[in-house]
Amino acid sequence: MSKKIAILGSTGSIGTQALEVVDAHPDRFEVEVITANNNVDLLAEQAIKYDPNIVVIANKEKYSELSEALANTDIKVYAGEEAIAQVVQNDSIDIVLTAMVGFSGLLPTVNAIKAGKQIALANKETLVVAGDIITRLALENKVSILPVDSEHSAIFQCLAGEFHNPIEKLILTASGGPFRGKNVEFLRKVTRCQALNHPNWSMGDKITIDSASMMNKGLEAIEARWLFNVKPQDIEVVVHPQSIVHSLIQFEDGSLKAQLGLPDMRIPIQYAMTFPERYKTDFPRFSFLDYPELTFEKADPKAFRNLDLAYQAMGKEGNMPCILNAANEVAVDGFLKQKIGFVEMSDIIEKTMMKASFIAQPTLDDYIQSNTEARAIAEEIIIK
Ligand code: MG
Repeated sequence: MSKKIAILGSTGSIGTQALEVVDAHPDRFEVEVITANNNVDLLAEQAIKYDPNIVVIANKEKYSELSEALANTDIKVYAGEEAIAQVVQNDSIDIVLTAMVGFSGLLPTVNAIKAGKQIALANKETLVVAGDIITRLALENKVSILPVDSEHSAIFQCLAGEFHNPIEKLILTASGGPFRGKNVEFLRKVTRCQALNHPNWSMGDKITIDSASMMNKGLEAIEARWLFNVKPQDIEVVVHPQSIVHSLIQFEDGSLKAQLGLPDMRIPIQYAMTFPERYKTDFPRFSFLDYPELTFEKADPKAFRNLDLAYQAMGKEGNMPCILNAANEVAVDGFLKQKIGFVEMSDIIEKTMMKASFIAQPTLDDYIQSNTEARAIAEEIIIK
C-alpha cells in the first residue's frame, strides 16, 4: 500500500527534497496534492511529473498561468490560501507535509488535523503561533504530528521505545549560523548576502535569516515545548558548529540519547513520511574520521538577543509567541528587502512584544487577529 501525500510548499527547499524522497521510493508514495506560493513554473513542472489530483497556487494572480500550463492534463487547478486550507481535507490524502513558510501554515494545518490527516510538520511557525490549539486538536482527532525539523526529528527518534519515561531535559543543538562568535558591532554591519550564506544547511531565505539571527533556535524551543510537552526551563540550547549531533534528550536517570548524522534534511523528511519504518537510502554516510572534533559551546545572548526574546515569549505564553513570530516575519522581510539592518530585527521584535495586546488564553480567531495587529505594529516601526 502506498501512502498518499499532500505537499504544501512543494517548490521550496523542504518540498523539493520531499519529492526526492518520493523519487527514491516510487512504489511507496503517491503525490495527491502539491501547492506553492508563487513559483508557477516549477509547480507546473512538478505537476506534470508527479501527476497529482490537485494543484494549488497561493497567489491568485498566477492562476491563469498555472491553469494554462496544465490545460492538457486532468489535474484540478485552484488558487488562493483558502483553497490550500480546503484541499488538505480531501478524502484521498493520508499525510500532509506542511512545508510552507510562516503564519500561512496555521489554517491548513488546523483543517488537516480536523480531517484526521497525519501531519508531517515542517512549518514550525504553526506550533509557535498556536501550539496549545494544535496539540489539543491533534489529541482530539487522534492525529500524530511527526516532526520534520532536524532537531525535533532527532528528539522524536531518541524517544522511540521511551514514551513512558519522563524527559528531564531537551538539548537543542544550533549550528550558530554564519555569525557565530561575532559581536554586536560586527552584526550591525552585516549584509543580506552574508546572512544568507549558511555554513552547513541549504534552506529557504526566511529560515536562513532566522538561523543567522538565532531566532530559528528560539522558534524551535517553542516548537519543542509543544511537540514534547516539556517546560520552557527544561529546554536548553547548545551551539554545535558541525551540525552532526542533531539534538539530545536527557532522561531522569541522567542518561543522554542523541541522534547523529550528516546535515541532510532528506533524512528527517523521509523519517516523518515513513514512520515508524525506516527505508533504505543511498544518501552519503557520516564518518567520525571526517569529523575528528565535535565541539559544543554556549550561545552568546548579547549578540543574539532573538534567542532570549523567544524564551521570554515562551515563558509569557498566551499570544506572546504569536506576536513574536509576526514581528519576526516582518523584521526578516524588512532585512531581506534591505530596509533595516540585522541588529534592528531584534529591536523591532522587542518593541512589538511590548506594544501588541496580550491575550492570556487566545482562541484561533484571537491568534489570527494578533498576527495582523503585531504585523501592523512591526511594519509601522520599520517605516519610522
Ligand atoms: Mg531545525
